[in-house]
Amino acid sequence: MGYPSAYYEQAEQIMEQRRYENRREESRREKEVSDKIPEAGRLITGLAGTIDKLAKIILAHDDNAAKQIEKLKDENLADQDRLSALLKENGYPADYLDKIYTCEKCHDSGVLEDRRCECFHTVLRQIAAKELSKSIPIGLASFESFDIKYYSDVKSPALGGLSPRDIMEQNFRYCEKYAANFHIPCESIFMSGGTGLGKTHLSLAIAKTVIGKEYSVVYGSAPDLLGKIESAHFDRNDDENSEAMLTVKECDLLVLDDLGAEFPSQFYSACIYSIINTRLNYGRPTIVNSNLTYEELASRYTDRVASRLISMKNLKFAGSDIRIAKR
Ligand SMILES: [Zn+2]
Repeated sequence: MGYPSAYYEQAEQIMEQRRYENRREESRREKEVSDKIPEAGRLITGLAGTIDKLAKIILAHDDNAAKQIEKLKDENLADQDRLSALLKENGYPADYLDKIYTCEKCHDSGVLEDRRCECFHTVLRQIAAKELSKSIPIGLASFESFDIKYYSDVKSPALGGLSPRDIMEQNFRYCEKYAANFHIPCESIFMSGGTGLGKTHLSLAIAKTVIGKEYSVVYGSAPDLLGKIESAHFDRNDDENSEAMLTVKECDLLVLDDLGAEFPSQFYSACIYSIINTRLNYGRPTIVNSNLTYEELASRYTDRVASRLISMKNLKFAGSDIRIAKR
């Protein structure tokens, strides 16, 4: 699969940074414990010198080297036990002075045997997703800045006796919970309803929360994302496997905003089906927003696309354009 080499370099830098920060945290903890418990400080220093003592014994080629090594080992174990006891007495967790690794599998080397560790691929996907979503004003929309008071509280028979505010309150709660409990696999969402009802706001808020949990998220409007996939396709002629297409298919969460706003074309239709279908098959969640109804989508794309959208959780947005109310 084809990520540019610059992404690999960036990923290596992130791994390097992780190792650096974990070492720094280990030293900080050692210092903290040593300052607080002087005896523990002496034990930590003593244990750190074990390797030097061992080397000295071996290099001396003494006849009773085996015995000396055995003795050193016993002392070392006794010191470790004493240190554990001191930690416990002072209210520290038993593993407080252990080595710290972000990835326990590869110990942050990014390599497992002769292949890349999964943690390295995760970092790569995050970089690719970030690059593809670069122009997104992710900082602007959050759950906190979503204001329900812009939605009318007049109940209407057309909304089953509810008001737009009632419905939007349900949608808000759903999205907030969805973001908080996000995992893979999880449900995909189809947000439908007219322009200016907050679909983009709530999906950006979800994206922001999910990014905060270290997942890779691609966010883009259908015209923008499909345009990028199309230009990669015609530039390199590598069909299904352009970097943009791979990133869109493989990221942890895809938010496809404003589906139906793109120029109608068979190429786009095929792309949309391929993206949504692949993601559903792999259990990777997608949030699709559209001003179009199911019927309009079915006639614009194919029944196959519409049937995939119907299989998602449908959130209907209600009310009138809140951008006007805000002004
Ligand atoms: Zn790893």
